[in-house]
Amino acid sequence: MNISDAERFSAVLESVGYKQTSNINEADLIAIVMCSVRQSAVNRVHGLVEKFSALGGPASGWKKPITILTGCILKKDAKTFSEIFDFVINIKEIKKLPAILKNKKSEDTGDYLDIAPKYSSKFSANVPIMTGCNNFCAYCVVPYAREREVSRSSKEIILEVKNLIRKGYKEVWLLGQNVNSYKDGKTNFSELLKAVNKIPGNFWIRFTSSHPKDFNDRVIKTLAVGGKITPYLNLPVQAGDDKVLKAMNRHYTVADYKNKIKKLREKIPCITISTDIIVGFPGETKKQFENTAKLFRDIKYDMAYINKYSPRTGTAAAKLKDDVPWEEKKRREKVLTEILKQTALEKNKKLVGKETTVLIDSKRDDNYFGKNEHYKTIKIKSEEEILGKLIKVKITEAKPFTLNGEIIKK
Ligand code: SAH
Ligand code: SF4
Repeated sequence: MNISDAERFSAVLESVGYKQTSNINEADLIAIVMCSVRQSAVNRVHGLVEKFSALGGPASGWKKPITILTGCILKKDAKTFSEIFDFVINIKEIKKLPAILKNKKSEDTGDYLDIAPKYSSKFSANVPIMTGCNNFCAYCVVPYAREREVSRSSKEIILEVKNLIRKGYKEVWLLGQNVNSYKDGKTNFSELLKAVNKIPGNFWIRFTSSHPKDFNDRVIKTLAVGGKITPYLNLPVQAGDDKVLKAMNRHYTVADYKNKIKKLREKIPCITISTDIIVGFPGETKKQFENTAKLFRDIKYDMAYINKYSPRTGTAAAKLKDDVPWEEKKRREKVLTEILKQTALEKNKKLVGKETTVLIDSKRDDNYFGKNEHYKTIKIKSEEEILGKLIKVKITEAKPFTLNGEIIKK
């Protein structure tokens, strides 16, 4: 979502004549699109400020650039940062930026998602379908930083995707904090997926994030149709213990979650599943954590994003005692990582010898890397330049988080 915000922010800057530079020493303007989900990300902004304050200096002929902060910002941080940055702008207000830079008042109150973004990739595009969140999970700052949920019009989303496909994009990510609660009149998330799936062209549809309480049979049915919708789902469980889930204000039980995964795997046996987890939520006992470890063993995830709980001011959980020591959080993280390595490797081994399609997204040394339909990372060698292409590959070797492959010669 932050990358997507940055793409719209860049477009606004370009509209008033700014050009991107890779040399910070020649920048007339430095903008940071921040994330507030973890304190570590907020600290990184302070680190960057120190870094660019130390740059250049009058002797080098360097003119102090204009500094702007935007993105996902908490009100209390906005106050502190307004003393450091020239401008602190709410992401929803970036249409006003051209006027603000000229010290003028702006009348433009339109939705910032209407801004045509400057896409950072030429083959994979982020398409926000909604902003904000209504869920108030006890640990999370998003509802405070991004305010309430607003869905974009489905017509506009379809138009944006059609334009992308015309330009040759191979992958679109439909983004929102809780895509399953997308709503535009009669169009719910399942209907939106179906409509995007109907757009002609050779491309993949991916989406994130899905809240388990809103992930329903309708969406499972749509995913099972397949087509351009890729067989990969990120379904953040956050904890594998009912008491912890209740304290997190997640509105589902472990049984509800397992039941949804069961239905999903019945309908789409090949689907790959990842999750997000928080270890060391206030009051999480060793026994409760063992329930999360058990869930990990039972579900056998392909991937997991494991986070150590950190209190965020203003959230409900910040009022609770952060009583799980950091060392214990690290231990719990390690336990889950070990289980994940085993389950992911077990699954990947079954793929050796199979054929798959990979969207090549990067190159390091002699190797190309990309993700396949199942969002597995695949490494291949190629003499030809294949960045941004969909390539048919045979899998030759399995590791827990990567697969090696070779290009299938036609
Ligand atoms: N909307 C998404 C998550 C957005 S935040 C969802 O509902 O799943 C991304 C991830 O950051 C979350 O899934 C959670 O695992 C993690 N996270 C959020 N707040 C956190 C906190 N205070 N401490 C540690 N991890 C946190
Ligand atoms: Fe945060 Fe929960 Fe909203 Fe996700 S659903 S953004 S975790 S409050």
